[in-house]
Amino acid sequence: MVIELLEKAKGLDRDDELKAFKDEFYIKEGQIYLDGNSLGLLSKRAENETLKALASWKEYGIDGWTEGDHPWFTLSEKLGETSAPLIGAEKNEVVVTGSITANLHQMIASFYHPNEEKNEILADELNFPSDLYAIQSQLELKGFDPAVYLKKVPSQDGQTILLDSIKSSITEKTALVLLPSVLYRSGQLLPIKEIVEYAHRYSAIVGFDLAHSIGAVPHKLHEWNVDFAVWCNYKYVNSGPGGTGGLYVHQKHHGKMPGLKGWFGSAKEKQFDMEHTFSPAGDAGAYQIGTPHVLSSAPLAGSLSIFEEAGIHRIREKSLQQTDFLLEVIDYLLGDYQFKVVTPQNHSERGGHIALEHPAAASICKALKNRNVIPDFRSPNLIRLAPAPLYTTYRELYEAVLLLKDIMESKEYEQHGNTRNIIA
Ligand SMILES: *Cc1c(COP(=O)(O)O)cnc(C)c1O
Repeated sequence: MVIELLEKAKGLDRDDELKAFKDEFYIKEGQIYLDGNSLGLLSKRAENETLKALASWKEYGIDGWTEGDHPWFTLSEKLGETSAPLIGAEKNEVVVTGSITANLHQMIASFYHPNEEKNEILADELNFPSDLYAIQSQLELKGFDPAVYLKKVPSQDGQTILLDSIKSSITEKTALVLLPSVLYRSGQLLPIKEIVEYAHRYSAIVGFDLAHSIGAVPHKLHEWNVDFAVWCNYKYVNSGPGGTGGLYVHQKHHGKMPGLKGWFGSAKEKQFDMEHTFSPAGDAGAYQIGTPHVLSSAPLAGSLSIFEEAGIHRIREKSLQQTDFLLEVIDYLLGDYQFKVVTPQNHSERGGHIALEHPAAASICKALKNRNVIPDFRSPNLIRLAPAPLYTTYRELYEAVLLLKDIMESKEYEQHGNTRNIIA
């Protein structure tokens, strides 16, 4: 059976339509990198675009704002247009700017308008801390106590969220619903369309954090009538550490005043009039605040060109096939070692990674790293394994699990402390 799985991996690699993209990435010899859901690897195209941005600065100085391949003045909007197919948005609904947390502040400041009757924000109890911090501050700024006005959808099992729980948490008091598309721990994909439909019946605004779905899962944000979304580009989109994030605002909201004004949100033709009255752009660009982070946005141009060629639907197809294969190998090889898969089996509920619960998760991750397999640990007991369809092979998945089995069998992991390092 082990041999059959290896043969199966080889066959899947042979037939893989996306296999050529692997050569475009910098992958360390002998390493199996399964952490593309935390920080995607560098591609040659991303590197090249970064070098080009530096060359523009070298060549043009201040004129780089309007000269060169990617004039900086319109860079955020142009990159937004190129990102739009990844999330199923119209071109003018997307802008590349900020980080998830900064963009969330902007979105909540723009779309949370509490009154006597409608004033609650609904998130979920498994949410990423920074998203909750942003909600808390925005409530506080409006004079609403987060202990009362921030509601969290409960989880039945500590790993996933039921659509029914979301529905029963939405009431006439709900002003804003803010959820992740994919839960960062278990990798559960939420039914975005159904959530939006239901919340809109209560006239709530609905926003999503796409951190763990952009670049892995296709979306139809415009068609599904999602009000706003935010994401980072340094995970599956491979735009590098601190790479500029993105935001989406549905066209029906365009032309409104953003909650947080800044001159780069101005209508382009007005920005340099230097008037003291703010004239917002008529599209998602209005939600920018200050000068774009040009050097942190540059790699994205290269990375997005890979996504354009590969196509998000083919990426999703491979991602599901890879997580299916990973589950199969885990099931076969790790049955004796107390691992519990907490990622949903159902394709329609699965994001891009597989999460395994184990009491010794921290030491197991250290042992894996020691063997040149890069997983990701989330406290207190979770191992996340993310195949990146653009550069992970089936063979690597097979070998990673085989190494994991060896680490368990030999109890090699016991040589490492079961506590997290600073990052993971
Ligand atoms: C990665 C991640 C973040 C990080 O936010 P930044 O502001 O980009 O640092 C926030 N929320 C979720 C759900 C994430 O997965």
